[in-house]
Amino acid sequence: MKPVITDFDSSSLKEALLRLGLKTYAFCQIIQWLYQKRVTSFDEMTNLSEKNRQLLKENFRFSSTKVADIKHSADGTCLFLFELSDGKKIEGVYIPAITGRITLCLSTQVGCAMGCHFCRTGEMGLLRNLTQGEILEQVLMIQRCFPAEQVTNIVFMGMGEPMANLKAVSGALKILEDKKAFGFAKRRITVSTAGLVPKMFEFIQDNKTKLAVSLHAPNDKLRNELMPINKRYPLAELMQFCRDYNRICKLPVIFEYILLKGVNDAPELLEELIRLLNGVSAKINLIPFNSFPESQYQPSSAETVEMWRDRLYEAGIQTNVRAERGRDILAACGQLAA
Ligand code: SAH
Ligand code: SF4
Repeated sequence: MKPVITDFDSSSLKEALLRLGLKTYAFCQIIQWLYQKRVTSFDEMTNLSEKNRQLLKENFRFSSTKVADIKHSADGTCLFLFELSDGKKIEGVYIPAITGRITLCLSTQVGCAMGCHFCRTGEMGLLRNLTQGEILEQVLMIQRCFPAEQVTNIVFMGMGEPMANLKAVSGALKILEDKKAFGFAKRRITVSTAGLVPKMFEFIQDNKTKLAVSLHAPNDKLRNELMPINKRYPLAELMQFCRDYNRICKLPVIFEYILLKGVNDAPELLEELIRLLNGVSAKINLIPFNSFPESQYQPSSAETVEMWRDRLYEAGIQTNVRAERGRDILAACGQLAA
């Protein structure tokens, strides 16, 4: 089968095109058609010669991902259900904010192997990795639905663990950041991970994007219970990585902490968290737990969330309480399960 054109990185696409006899300027035009004009066929690349379009058709194909469904939330959030070429389903989310910021939340895998107990995607297990093209197609397809809107931010917080699909994720990041392609600034992209420490080290060798770490507990005993990955890469290793990341990437780590009633929201744990973050340049996102059918957890009360926010702030840690969007359509974090 012919290769999918969005699976190529810039330099190997250029090489392949030059080998077919196309010129460098044609390569630049093709990148523009793909990622700026977001066409869905080679025939739409109207400034290429008939011969070149024919060559493209003979040698490449477009990804066959389809939009299977769109759910609109009362708050403007849209949950996209995508059907991949093999019939598997993934989700992506369009999140507009009143500030004008428009964030897309992307999936990196069909399901996830990490098995975090509070996460709906985790319950599915891992079906397979997404390809680079399938990651990029989510952006293209959502943008095609909102041609007048400018997407400002990308978060890798949909289905799947990005560090478990490093090659495709890094490849997609390159194209997202490429000025001739999507042209997103690095500071507008955030990759979230549950803490696959060795892969994170590998990742930051050539990606200096913002990194979010799903923490959810300040000690190994509790984190082992919530996130099985912690048994492989316990907190000491994770926190060492975070200090190295601070130094190498010169960025704070964004820690995500879902507040689960009676599980990880006790005042002692709050103090333990503050001690754990001592010496790390950190921001914290407190996430209200999104429940889903059959989940065993409940969200902490609004007072508890406020108490955590105030105390962390007092301890000098920049803290946000994530405003949950799209909860009514199960499009919020951890509710994705195609
Ligand atoms: N696998 C990566 C990225 C996808 S999950 C990771 O775990 O970081 C994105 C975020 O959603 C993570 O912080 C995750 O912990 C959070 N999340 C998972 N289930 C959730 C739920 N039920 N309610 C709120 N947030 C959840
Ligand atoms: Fe996977 Fe992230 Fe869900 Fe954990 S929270 S199961 S790592 S998607």
